[in-house]
Amino acid sequence: MDVILQIKEIAKRLDARQGEMVHLLTRLVEMESPSDDFTSVNAFAEVLLREMRQLGFDAIRRAVPRSPDLVECYHGRGNKSVMLLGHMDTVWPIGTLLKRPVRVDGDRLYGPGCFDMKAGIVVALYAAHVLGERCPRIHFFMTSQEEVSGEPYRAILEERARKASAVICLEPAWPGGAVKTERKGAGHIKMTAHGRSAHAGSEPERGVNAIVEIANQVIRLRELQRELKNGVTMVTGLIRGGTRRNVVPDFAEIDVDLRFKRMIDGEDTVRRVKAFKPFLPEATLDVEAGISVPPLERSSGVQTLFALASRVEEALGRKLREVSTGGVSEANYVAACGVPVIDGFGADGDGAHAENEHVLLASLPQRAALLAGTLLLQAQEHSKSI
Ligand SMILES: [Zn+2]
Repeated sequence: MDVILQIKEIAKRLDARQGEMVHLLTRLVEMESPSDDFTSVNAFAEVLLREMRQLGFDAIRRAVPRSPDLVECYHGRGNKSVMLLGHMDTVWPIGTLLKRPVRVDGDRLYGPGCFDMKAGIVVALYAAHVLGERCPRIHFFMTSQEEVSGEPYRAILEERARKASAVICLEPAWPGGAVKTERKGAGHIKMTAHGRSAHAGSEPERGVNAIVEIANQVIRLRELQRELKNGVTMVTGLIRGGTRRNVVPDFAEIDVDLRFKRMIDGEDTVRRVKAFKPFLPEATLDVEAGISVPPLERSSGVQTLFALASRVEEALGRKLREVSTGGVSEANYVAACGVPVIDGFGADGDGAHAENEHVLLASLPQRAALLAGTLLLQAQEHSKSI
């Protein structure tokens, strides 16, 4: 059967299973899994494992030092797999569910962690399940510390991603349904100024004011950002300095958040900032700057994935949009492995990390159809290219 016809047929079958998907999502949201509570995340992993086995996936839990377990599973036919990347942890502490239990109100489901991103897990499981025998080779990879730091398993994630033909990340859609084809990378800048203290009243001229020094650096960073004009942002988020009003301060420092679309721009900015010199003749300035998360760049591989996903939505009478975001996810790490990555294939809704967090019920089967269709088209493209 022609792939487009298959996609239409799959979408219909998924629509008929919306109720089941809502049930599974409810069960997953009712298992609270805050990142810092390892026991709870592991209990969630166990429940997920059981649900996956019931749907026909031979999943395993993988222990990782200094982190709750990962859940992973290879499934389907073919050599190279597409990684379906998601996370099990949420930002909500245990007990949030007591205050805000899962509830369905009209066309929406509310509950802590439903949108970010337990619905994405449900979408992926049903997409693969409904494909049945036709399912191309996929690799579910569910992480456990996405909301804090994936460092404990980053090497495993990268090693797996390098073997994949593509990575589809199950983070929520941009509200309205757009997928994310570009995520900025992130870094930090810390500047410390040292001056000389003096009495502010009797001999201020003997002092070297570290706050004045650092204030000038803040302005200089703003000027550099304006000059660069390529999506680089530097936000001074924290400033400290001084001891009391009547003392010329000998110390001040700032912490700055750095974001950039292309690695080359991030590296260039770090280099320029490290070369900053003190503004006041007698002040000293220490600059630390570095990149912590690489960007997900909108490469040609990413554009191809987006084109395939757009064909699926078109076949289903919808239009897929794409967005660029400054927020990072684990998709950023895998993007740096040189594999095409697309993000935001989870459910549509709104309120990630907020009290109004919710999922649009109809989007569960719709996004599963989008994912299933994209997998079919990607497998077709991949077999053509080898
Ligand atoms: Zn997330």
